[in-house]
Amino acid sequence: MKVSDRTHGVEYAIRDITAYANKFRAQGKEIIYLNIGDPVKFDFPTPEHIKRALIDAVSKNENYYADSEGLPELRKAIVEKESEKGLDVTEDDVIVTNGVSEGLDMALASIVDPNSEVLMPGPYYPPYSSYVKFYGGKPVEFRLHEDGRPDLEDLRKKITPRSRALCIISPNNPTGEVFDRKSLQQLIDIATEHDLYVICDEIYDKITFDSTFTGIGKVAKDAPVVLLNGFSKAYLMTGWRCGYICMNSSSRKLDQFREDVPKLARVRIATNLPVQIAAVQALRGPQDHIPVMVEKLRKRRDLVVKRLNGMGIQCRLPRGAFYAFPRIELGSRWKDDKQFVIELLNGTGVLTVHGSGFGVSYGSGHFRIVYLPPEDVLERAMDKLEKFVKS
Ligand code: PLP
Repeated sequence: MKVSDRTHGVEYAIRDITAYANKFRAQGKEIIYLNIGDPVKFDFPTPEHIKRALIDAVSKNENYYADSEGLPELRKAIVEKESEKGLDVTEDDVIVTNGVSEGLDMALASIVDPNSEVLMPGPYYPPYSSYVKFYGGKPVEFRLHEDGRPDLEDLRKKITPRSRALCIISPNNPTGEVFDRKSLQQLIDIATEHDLYVICDEIYDKITFDSTFTGIGKVAKDAPVVLLNGFSKAYLMTGWRCGYICMNSSSRKLDQFREDVPKLARVRIATNLPVQIAAVQALRGPQDHIPVMVEKLRKRRDLVVKRLNGMGIQCRLPRGAFYAFPRIELGSRWKDDKQFVIELLNGTGVLTVHGSGFGVSYGSGHFRIVYLPPEDVLERAMDKLEKFVKS
């Protein structure tokens, strides 16, 4: 029977590629999973105090529907965190969501009309384009310079009367690039000049290595900034699905958005209450697992980048998150990056994601490696990769 064209076109390369892996695994062969950015699946367990808070909440029968906009105490804790990063935000500007994913969905559902255009840095995290297309809009990629800074000239050329929003993902998935304060300021200035919403995803704000992280709030002033953040990565709560939207309190341009987005929150009733209670503890409780995690990741990043460059695969040093995005010399051996990734899987069991899944214009000719696994697994994966490319 017919399904909507809208749904039929939805793609998510990171998980779509697992279909190939399942076929491979069915033959009884071992797979090294370097495709999904879930730290909890590796040696980064959810901190004990966060797990305890969830268990206690369930035991105390805090199992009813929460408020649609989120648990007041959690909204308060989110305001504390995000205002410390520089954003002007009150509890009324916060909506708790089922992960950043739902926050992104709600934000784009509220902004995108058929034929609206949404600008995003290429390469980008795939749901950005999927949701834009789902709501009838058109994703428009703008270029980044080799050093990861946004190419402002390219961005300006791509703004049209149909442009509605500019997305910023910093640190970025899949490149691990972190935008510095000057770049953020320039992006805000352009968005202000052209009346664009700014959707800024800071889910990896606590996972940066060599540069200090600047939050969009530091430069937002009264621009219509919609900040997305959540608990999946730094608080190791991927499977619990908790995130949030923060709207810049100083922005009058957001007034209609501020009124309308909560309607979407109400339609889906609420997010998981015990998880929200645990999320309060995540923000207010001990934070010492974070520097430990970042140090472990730094070693893994360095190992992978050194091995890749050592075997002749060009890879820039990512400055945040837990992804490397090396370039592939396709030559005559592979038709495109997807063929490379599938042949790498079939030949070695190493599962990565094709770069074109993160945007055809700037992701093609690359592949993404998740460097979350322990060093011995990464070494083994790099050995297999090296043998494969040199064979
Ligand atoms: N935003 C970015 C940039 C991501 O990389 C991811 C997950 O990989 C998400 C959002 C999804 O976050 P959540 O688990 O909160 O839905």
